[in-house]
Amino acid sequence: MAARDPYPVGTEEPLTTIDLTQDRLLIDAAVRMDVPFVDLANEHAPYRDELDAAVAGVVDTCSFVLGSEVAAFEASFAEYCGTAHAIGVDSGFSALELMLRAYDIGPGDEVITTANTFVATAAAIDAVGARPVLVDVDPGTHCMSPEDLAGAVTPRTKAVIPVHLFGRVVPMEPIRAVAERHGLLILEDACQAHGARYRNRRAGALGHAAAFSFYPSKNLGAFGDGGMVTTDDASLAQRIRMLRNVGSAEKYIHEIRGFNRRLDTVHAAVLRVKLERLDTANDRRRDAAAAYSALLGDLPVGLPDPAAFGQHVFHLYVVESERRDELQGFLEEWGVSTGIHYPVPIHLQPGYRWLGYGEGDFPVTERLAREMLSLPMFPTIGISQIAYVVRAMTDYFSRVGVWT
Ligand SMILES: *Cc1c(COP(=O)(O)O)cnc(C)c1O
Repeated sequence: MAARDPYPVGTEEPLTTIDLTQDRLLIDAAVRMDVPFVDLANEHAPYRDELDAAVAGVVDTCSFVLGSEVAAFEASFAEYCGTAHAIGVDSGFSALELMLRAYDIGPGDEVITTANTFVATAAAIDAVGARPVLVDVDPGTHCMSPEDLAGAVTPRTKAVIPVHLFGRVVPMEPIRAVAERHGLLILEDACQAHGARYRNRRAGALGHAAAFSFYPSKNLGAFGDGGMVTTDDASLAQRIRMLRNVGSAEKYIHEIRGFNRRLDTVHAAVLRVKLERLDTANDRRRDAAAAYSALLGDLPVGLPDPAAFGQHVFHLYVVESERRDELQGFLEEWGVSTGIHYPVPIHLQPGYRWLGYGEGDFPVTERLAREMLSLPMFPTIGISQIAYVVRAMTDYFSRVGVWT
């Protein structure tokens, strides 16, 4: 099947240089392809030797905990984000939790975030004993609604966690205005937004501190769990360094109560290699997103906001359809793997019923949970794979006879 394909998977040619109107995209629908949702093996293949050498280097030195690899990766990541400090931790969840803890946020405090996010954002607020206060998202941007944020502030509110969901940075200016008016800390959840920008500043450098995840499928992914806090605040950075390392900055001196939340050295070594490719990988994700949006333009599906394209890093490419579940099943039959992020909003999750929210409290989030579908998206996706997904979707909407 691949023999017919002029643009095989992982083609070096940027997708935006390909004429999307040419009929070579009209791959014979009878030729079945399996299009994975993500393809890490394919992404790693061209520099697999370097990744193997990075792992072997750690094994050679037997320096498995912290050490110079972690420090070097922290320095590179801080420089990449444009912050003074970066502190490696063992997950995105820990990054969120330690950031809150280092600012002494705990019982009696409230932290505002969106209902439309991965559950870890709220779980980290809960983990420090503070109360997660959820707000809806703006129907246009799908990001935290500044009006809803303003309406949720109480005298107990200490911080706001805007979530740069799917790789799009939350339009920060209106969020900042509300936060400044009420003296709130701005703590970014940048777990899906490595490299994304807002007015030429990177995610991670847009608030008081930010949390990143290096979960393997994120735009910058480790060979297991990992995370990072970025900040310009030197004393916060020092507190997080101690919190992650049983309260210790100096061996066997435990100045504060702490945890073991260190970033493993082997992950830092791998991430250093992958960080060098992050901008290229994000460019390719944007190219793939541009190709999807150009080819899906005539179908009755909601597409990502074109206004956000330049700065977006497309961790996910998400479309919206009232027929989402049926469409997903149809694509599966064609061999196209898709995802739903996220099918059940936090306020309707059994584990978070105690927050006291119910159906109807966040109508935009609830509609999105019914309608969002994440299409295959990874830096080495080929134009033929994208065209195949589009063909499958076109076939679906032709069959059901809904057209705009
Ligand atoms: C992945 C993710 C997290 C948590 O990261 P882990 O490394 O899995 O703990 C938090 N928030 C968002 C928005 C995420 O996508």
